[in-house]
Amino acid sequence: MVDVRRRAFLKSVLAAPILASCANEAEVPTPGEWHNWSGGQRCTPKDGLQMPSTVDELAGVVKAAKGPVRVAGAGHSFSAVVPTNDTLLSLELLSGIVSHDAAALTATIQAGTRLYLLGEPLAKLGQGLTVQPDIDLQSLGGALSTGTHGAGGQHRCMPSYLKEISLVTADGTVRNVSPQVEPEVFQAAQVSLGSLGVLAQVTLQNRAAYLLEERTGISRLNDALEQFAAWQKQDRHTEFFAFPRGETAFTKRMREVPATTTKTIDTAQEEEAELEYASEVGMRAPFTIPLIQSMASWFVPDITRVGASYHIFPTVRHTRFNEMEYAVPAEKGPACFREVAAKIRDDGLPVFFPLEYRHVGADDLWLSPHHGRESVTISVHQYFKQDHVALFKAVEPIFWKYDGRPHWGKWHSLTAKELAGRYDRWQDFLRVRKELDPGGKFLNPHLHQLFGV
Ligand SMILES: Cc1cc2nc3c(=O)[nH]c(=O)nc-3n(C[C@H](O)[C@H](O)[C@H](O)COP(=O)(O)OP(=O)(O)OC[C@H]3O[C@@H](n4cnc5c(N)ncnc54)[C@H](O)[C@@H]3O)c2cc1C
Repeated sequence: MVDVRRRAFLKSVLAAPILASCANEAEVPTPGEWHNWSGGQRCTPKDGLQMPSTVDELAGVVKAAKGPVRVAGAGHSFSAVVPTNDTLLSLELLSGIVSHDAAALTATIQAGTRLYLLGEPLAKLGQGLTVQPDIDLQSLGGALSTGTHGAGGQHRCMPSYLKEISLVTADGTVRNVSPQVEPEVFQAAQVSLGSLGVLAQVTLQNRAAYLLEERTGISRLNDALEQFAAWQKQDRHTEFFAFPRGETAFTKRMREVPATTTKTIDTAQEEEAELEYASEVGMRAPFTIPLIQSMASWFVPDITRVGASYHIFPTVRHTRFNEMEYAVPAEKGPACFREVAAKIRDDGLPVFFPLEYRHVGADDLWLSPHHGRESVTISVHQYFKQDHVALFKAVEPIFWKYDGRPHWGKWHSLTAKELAGRYDRWQDFLRVRKELDPGGKFLNPHLHQLFGV
């Protein structure tokens, strides 16, 4: 009851009058236009969105196209990795589990499969994804291609669980690559932003189906930063959100529990509507941001939930935003976070959203932001109706100072010149990319800039 009353208070006192003034701001889509989730990326592909329904058909479309050829997954990237006004493909019809190996706990899955369509079918086979991000709307191909990750330094990003990839390359050839067959192509294709070809299907190393217990609560920000490394050892997944102007961290900690534990939920958690209300208020009346943020801890009760891993990992996000995220070496995480928060606070940058802080395990994928080092990822979000570029540009140099590498699916301003020195295998990636796609069929303007070709 207490929580319901608090929410009603926030909505009625702070938000309702302001929401009333923006009720007619619906976006009008242009016919034939594709746009991403936040609305920040748009394009009008010349033949509309092409949706092959078999791998042969997909290979035929790729072979016949002059380029650029891009794949739109679920459109949940913020960077310009998808747009093209030429050939835009959707693999929405290439969806589902193709086969599995019960003993090895692997599954071969079509790359167009949305993550939310994977949980139950995999569980019926006795399997679960080892890690998942904090939403489950992404396509598998899209999530893998940008190095999508969850939270928790004991686990790596999603593509590091790949065992085999079926890749449709520029001439329409389907190449099945793995650590044993064409290992360099496999290495390059694990995180490749669709720049080597189209992932048609992939084999993932999963684990036995499992239950998670999630505890959300409040902690002092300094305590969260100082204890985060220790929490990593106790929890399977740990993250926190914190307002730059506040002293409070909203923590989310997950541990695996025995299969006999009673489940308390059987769906993903809905995001609270307060975030949208508060973002509207903060945008229109920035002077209220410190007040609302200091009140926000009232609205986060301690909650414990138990459920299937695929119900506990994702949150349903309704409030749209744009995002920049950098991965910095784990030991530099607390100092980097403090500096980012101070910049936003001291410069009075107009943003309501909290910063997000997670750990991701080290891997050896050529273009993974976590290559060769355990990372802390720090995300800066901006409400989709507000200027995200000005905010991100103001903060981004702090991440460079801490040796950060950008999330490929999120906003950043780096080009080949700055990126090359951040990845040990950058030149190897460019070499393999050129061998597979000498004519640059898979490159749109953003990828030309990233790879300097
Ligand atoms: C609300 C929200 C929450 C998020 N949470 C997280 C999170 O917790 N952790 C995290 O790491 N990221 C997160 N992200 C980022 C997101 O996971 C990535 O940007 C991801 O790539 C989006 O997947 P998608 O299917 O929408 O792909 P898209 O954004 O459509 O495409 C991404 C890239 O993959 C390519 N691609 C797609 N399918 C294929 C294919 N079959 N073959 C070859 N290339 C392909 C596209 O061409 C493009 O280059 C979040 C994004 C949003 C909007």
